[in-house]
Amino acid sequence: MQEDNYRHKGMRQQLMQVLKDKGITDVAVLNAIGTVPRHVFLESSFVEFAYQDKPFPIGSGQTISQPFTVAMQSQLLNVSRGMKVLEIGTGSGYQACILAEMGAKVFTVERQRNLYNKTKPFLAEFPYHIKTFLGDGNKGLPTYGPFDRIIITAAAPEIPEALVNQLKIGGIMVIPLNDEADATKQRMLRLTKRQDGTMAREEFGDCRFVPMLKEIGND
Ligand code: SAH
Repeated sequence: MQEDNYRHKGMRQQLMQVLKDKGITDVAVLNAIGTVPRHVFLESSFVEFAYQDKPFPIGSGQTISQPFTVAMQSQLLNVSRGMKVLEIGTGSGYQACILAEMGAKVFTVERQRNLYNKTKPFLAEFPYHIKTFLGDGNKGLPTYGPFDRIIITAAAPEIPEALVNQLKIGGIMVIPLNDEADATKQRMLRLTKRQDGTMAREEFGDCRFVPMLKEIGND
């Protein structure tokens, strides 16, 4: 793994301030952003870009989400230490590390074989509770549920029924759901599972993610 020095730590402090200025208030989220070395998730030649508030290509046609998006989804998730969190779309593994740094037990699913093969051993180098799976996130992880929290980090065409079933009562799902009127963007939703199994729905503006696809693949 690439080194993490005082210069990187300084850049993370600046990124924390940028995210604060953009409205992130959850101290646990900000501290996790200040702790997890985002530059090690990028090729070493792109270190200068790691602490800008921008998404970045990570190969296999996928991106590491913008820090603001990671922070916003983490904040909406309202995670407490010890919670079981299911993430759909492992990608670089950065979001999984942020949640794990906040004390969550993270179960993360990636459908793309190349990324999974790269990210699984990489995540094992961190001192976190993160289990990585190859699979179609639409199906969730029935044998590991139910989960306190579910975070989807790809653009979902619909709310996956299997994931609703794997969420505890009172549990929260954060999901970028395709905007029916505009196929280029999504609405960020927070869904909370009620006692009767129905979902309370809150909306938090527009966002843009790579599409959530079906089945395992290499595309
Ligand atoms: N959370 C990631 C960003 C993910 S980008 C990070 O922190 O870097 C979205 C990811 O979702 C991509 O890696 C994509 O391959 C994956 N994905 C798309 N559809 C999926 C599905 N059905 N199941 C699991 N992963 C999926």
